[in-house]
Amino acid sequence: MAKYFGTNGIRAKLDVMTPEFVSRMAFAFGIWCNRGKILLARDTRVSGPMLHHAATAGLFSAGCQVLDLGICPAPTVELMVKKLKADGGITITASHNPPEWNALKFVDKHSVAVSWERGEEIEKIFTDQKIQRAEWNKLGSSTKYTLAIDDHIKEITDYVDLRAIRKKHPHVVLDCANGTGSLFAPKLFRELGCKLLTLNAQPDGFFPGHNSEPTPDNLADLIAAVKATGADMGIAWDGDCDRVIFIDEKGTYIIGDRSYALSVEIALSETKEKKPKVVTTVATSDTIRDIARKHGAELVYTKVGGPYLAEELLRHRAVTGGEEAGGIIWPVLSPGKDGFATAAKILELVCKTGKPLSKLISSLPAYYNSKIRIPCTAEQKYAVIDRIRSQPLEKGLVSLTLDGLRINSKEGWVILRPSGTEHLVRIFAEAKTPEKAKALMEKYEKKVKAMLG
Ligand code: MG
Repeated sequence: MAKYFGTNGIRAKLDVMTPEFVSRMAFAFGIWCNRGKILLARDTRVSGPMLHHAATAGLFSAGCQVLDLGICPAPTVELMVKKLKADGGITITASHNPPEWNALKFVDKHSVAVSWERGEEIEKIFTDQKIQRAEWNKLGSSTKYTLAIDDHIKEITDYVDLRAIRKKHPHVVLDCANGTGSLFAPKLFRELGCKLLTLNAQPDGFFPGHNSEPTPDNLADLIAAVKATGADMGIAWDGDCDRVIFIDEKGTYIIGDRSYALSVEIALSETKEKKPKVVTTVATSDTIRDIARKHGAELVYTKVGGPYLAEELLRHRAVTGGEEAGGIIWPVLSPGKDGFATAAKILELVCKTGKPLSKLISSLPAYYNSKIRIPCTAEQKYAVIDRIRSQPLEKGLVSLTLDGLRINSKEGWVILRPSGTEHLVRIFAEAKTPEKAKALMEKYEKKVKAMLG
């Protein structure tokens, strides 16, 4: 079992994420990538420069050639690994975690994020003291590559209908959360011909604006700014910019699974594939299923997590993929979730249809959800779900055991999952009405709590 890797890389505070640890893990990754060419980037966190140096040293000691992208969003690294034909990439970013955290996100040469299972292979190298460091005359070296953000912006502006957006000259408010988005988003949206207002658009690892998780509370200023200026939409990213959150023209916070659904609608409307496929996590709203059905597309369920989505997307040559927190994959660019491409595609749809974002969102099939997190011990979070899974299902229910336990019924569906990062069980229920979703969630909450005693 992987000791350090979680669902998507290694995330920890600095007691674990020491320079020694990061250097050794980067060395192990370099070996795993056959001592090849590795892209290295970081976000704006205070510990970023220290860990960037440590990772560089580790990669050098594996004999890797490092292409240093500097401060750069995770989706940019994913795009550039493919474009620059690298053997892998490391992004030093703790995504939406508070500023005292940091993390290593790894992608392979296909820009596919390294999962927990594949992370185990890297950890074996990490602990194997017999694996040789590079000889003195075969040590790696580093070259700066400063055009990654510009390259990524160009790929996005080539992908959207630039003329349609520029013609409308939409008014957008961007909240960059003092993260890597600060170096990317204002540039992209200026290129798209938008009238801009930016918030928290100075890179600052103390996150003075707000923490990098784009929750409604953290985005209060963005919501207020959209309302005050009458903008067409507000847009915010999480710390590594794989996820994006929208505020509609009325100032309403759009939850991630609604913008995800709209993105699937866009991808399926545009595809020329006769039998298109969409990959989605097992925790995704039935809205996605309904949209896929409407377009005659096949829906492929995956485990929850970016790496599994990317793996299955490539395997099935899917036209899009994503997850409920607002992370969407545009395979033309890379198999990684890209918050900038998603923002540009949704803005394009608003401009092309002339419909406000609120209207586009409300035209999607609607479901309601209810969720809870139940704290327990590390062992209990697996044991409880195993116990429920081993019980016979009630009549009319169907279970899916790809990741945790999902139970489908006529009323809706519920999923029970052990958290990948914390000691708790997550229960998420969805149904056609809020009351039904709540009842479904409470039914399983009772079961879990009874088992925990
Ligand atoms: Mg993220």
